[in-house]
Amino acid sequence: MSDWKAVADCVLDVQKQVTSATELVRKSLAAIESGKEYRAIISTTKDRALKRAKEIDERIAQGDKVGKLAGVPFIAKDNFLVFGAETTAGSNMLRGFEAPYQATAINRLEEQGAICVAKANLDAFAHGSSTENSDYMTTKNPRDKTRVPGGSSGGSAAAVMLDMAPFALGSDTGGSIRLPASFTGAVGYKPTHGTVSRSGVVAMASSTDVIGPLTRRVEDAALVLSCMAGKDELDGTTIDSSITEEAELTDLKGQTVGVVKEFMGEGVNDGVKRSVRAAVEKLKDAGVNVKEVSLPSLDLALACYYVLAPAEISSNLSRYDGQRFEYSSPGAANLHESYVKSRSEGFGAEAKRRIMIGTYVLSSGYYDAYYRRAQLVRTKIINELAETFEEVDYLVGPVAPSTAFKIGENANDPLQMYLADIMTVGPSLAGIPAISLPAKEAEGLPVGLHVMAARQKDNKLLSFAKTIEEVVT
Ligand code: GLN
Repeated sequence: MSDWKAVADCVLDVQKQVTSATELVRKSLAAIESGKEYRAIISTTKDRALKRAKEIDERIAQGDKVGKLAGVPFIAKDNFLVFGAETTAGSNMLRGFEAPYQATAINRLEEQGAICVAKANLDAFAHGSSTENSDYMTTKNPRDKTRVPGGSSGGSAAAVMLDMAPFALGSDTGGSIRLPASFTGAVGYKPTHGTVSRSGVVAMASSTDVIGPLTRRVEDAALVLSCMAGKDELDGTTIDSSITEEAELTDLKGQTVGVVKEFMGEGVNDGVKRSVRAAVEKLKDAGVNVKEVSLPSLDLALACYYVLAPAEISSNLSRYDGQRFEYSSPGAANLHESYVKSRSEGFGAEAKRRIMIGTYVLSSGYYDAYYRRAQLVRTKIINELAETFEEVDYLVGPVAPSTAFKIGENANDPLQMYLADIMTVGPSLAGIPAISLPAKEAEGLPVGLHVMAARQKDNKLLSFAKTIEEVVT
């Protein structure tokens, strides 16, 4: 178990001066130092963090009102703009980039007194499922150093499981919060698209990008989300959120869960299936109605995602032209050459692959055959899920077809790597909320139970997850 208390209890301790914000920040920094071999952290914001902690401690000593997260340290994935350290997005393209403003999510957490202490490793530009696409290093799975922690928010998940902070932030475009949660045993929550502002987070595929927490407990996820969620004038896609500070426990009797048939078939590791089945049995024992549901369109989700996401990526990455942001090739003779060289040298192989695929599917000759068709499939997936949620309250299945794989195992085979996302991309395309909850382990490795709900039913999903959290492990 963690040596951090629940986030709300850390706050109480700080407010009652049982401990101080400064002590908590120092504890975080010490854990970051002692866990260095796992390569979860790209940089720390030590000086700024200690300064902010001191301010909070002084305010408490004066009897001032402090926020709901007062004095709690956290770690942000390195694609969030944060003051006090560079923001690299895991890419050489942004090495040394100093944020001119902070992400809305970070500002809102800071308004409640939380303190960012470090920036976590990720696959460059969040493209990947293992952190092996990071231009800096590969993060090691805290449970087995020879294995990946999942990606792209692998550094954030590993940091939480290494007790470097009580919570970390990740981004999830096609599974990047849920997959690392599943591979490391953390709780990973992807809210409904638009719940948390994307302002100040390096864009990947805007129509599925969401921000969410990685934590040890569901109650921490709910508290952190409630502080970040809601409309933001800097992101026109944000919606009003109903997420409350405390997820209420829910009565399991009378709730209906659908087990997704397509996710329990061939190609899914036996241990993973056993663990999901065991969780489902426990839900039945607790009074939940369980039925099997079929979602045939989900079979198309991976192909659909790997057309649409690269299309949006190719557009979002066009801003890195060697002029506006950090990396600019020193060897360019003129502006045109500077564009070409800066992009050729600054981007890694995966970003280039996605730029090429994205540009291809958007090009005039192929737009109808690929991009438009994928949009039609996306609508089918959205409708199929919406109809299913008229019959069931939640859908469950595995988060991934396997447990954490070995470092290097899929690194040279992009298609094999993309398969890790087969179960997470459907909910991303549909924009629905989904969580990875630690279930029974398989062969000594963590397995995540994937629980999904209808759009904007975040509160309901968090309550359900909190209620079943103990039941399914
Ligand atoms: N693994 C998926 C991809 O590579 C998802 C990444 C993400 O959610 N950021 O696109």
